[in-house]
Amino acid sequence: MKPINRSQKLSGVCYDIRGPVLEEARRLEEEGHKILKLNIGNPAPFGFEAPDDILKDVIHNLPTAQGYGPSNGLYSAKVAIHQYYQTFGLLDTSVDDIYVGNGVSELIVMAMQALLNDGDEILVPSPDYPLWTAAIKLSGGTPVHYVCDEASDWYPDLDDIKSKITAKTRAIIIINPNNPTGAVYPKEILQGITQLARENNLIIYSDEIYDKILYNGAKHIPIATLSDDVFCITFGGLSKNYRVAGFRVGWMILTGPKRLAQNYIGGLDILSSMRLCANIPMQHAIQTALGGYQSIYDLTADDGRLYQQMELSYQLVNAIPGVSCTRPKGAMYLFPKIDIERFNIKDDEQFVLDFLREKQVLLVHGRAFNWRKPDHFRIVFLPHHEELEQAIMALGEFLDGYQQV
Ligand code: PLP
Repeated sequence: MKPINRSQKLSGVCYDIRGPVLEEARRLEEEGHKILKLNIGNPAPFGFEAPDDILKDVIHNLPTAQGYGPSNGLYSAKVAIHQYYQTFGLLDTSVDDIYVGNGVSELIVMAMQALLNDGDEILVPSPDYPLWTAAIKLSGGTPVHYVCDEASDWYPDLDDIKSKITAKTRAIIIINPNNPTGAVYPKEILQGITQLARENNLIIYSDEIYDKILYNGAKHIPIATLSDDVFCITFGGLSKNYRVAGFRVGWMILTGPKRLAQNYIGGLDILSSMRLCANIPMQHAIQTALGGYQSIYDLTADDGRLYQQMELSYQLVNAIPGVSCTRPKGAMYLFPKIDIERFNIKDDEQFVLDFLREKQVLLVHGRAFNWRKPDHFRIVFLPHHEELEQAIMALGEFLDGYQQV
């Protein structure tokens, strides 16, 4: 038999959060090492349990959830999502504007596959959540990264965005609250992005999966609420706010001039029906989650576990000589800067691997998030206090004297 090669569609497509650094962690585990994995925003393994009501509802509905369901989602789930966005003032929508998916991930790929022709450009933040860049490339598009500025609380640089718009640009992506930086965008920035989209006929894709994970009184504004003349797709889900990443439940909602997007929406419907339907039992969690007690706010309040861990890791990371980071306003990550001259770092993946091998803690290098220089890394602040403290102290010890060769 001849060698079997992957499709050319996959050239340049990567998702390094689960890439070579994780493979090395697995190899070390096979050798018997215990690895602390701070590479993935997966709350449940760190003891962040889902609200009881959600679990009960899924279990209760399991016996009647054995068949396929409607491609775009269960009616009750879509009604709950619709009502949720109505509370933010998204009034010109109906349940038909909602698509439920097996996580936001599936819907991101679907939204890109339905839109892009070869060579179409999409503006993507740098740093980004890399699935966006991967999905664009897989769909034949060209990701064009715009800068988010660390010196300005990691807000998108509107001038940079403007300078990168061409005749081929179809859309702009924002991630708000942001993974990996923890930024939460103020109204002026969102208005600026909306205005650029309006002037240049761009779609806005807004990934808002962390919309309830906010610290220190930060306010999240869904960008779709700021206009009714810009076509916008907003993404949300249960993975983070309700700590059920393994349930694989997410959604997207279409707003703005949908009449003009009928052809594209038809494409979304084709792709939605090709995967038959999203996981039915887990869709029963949506109504209970969105309508029930929002226990996430207990975790993000000043005395809440998530807030405390954010603050602890922020303080400890900033105490390491040669490392600094911005205080996150949302989400569950720090994206610290590392002084690459001081440690002679040329390759940030190598730095992460060296740290993993020496201290058995797994981070992700900044370039995995399409950041342009090898001078950042991402850390997940989900572990309990002691474990988090140990991991960050280990980083300090490791860096004391580290010189990349
Ligand atoms: N979008 C962002 C910004 C994320 O950080 C993640 C997961 O980490 C996802 C989407 C994927 O979400 P889901 O579990 O709904 O597929």
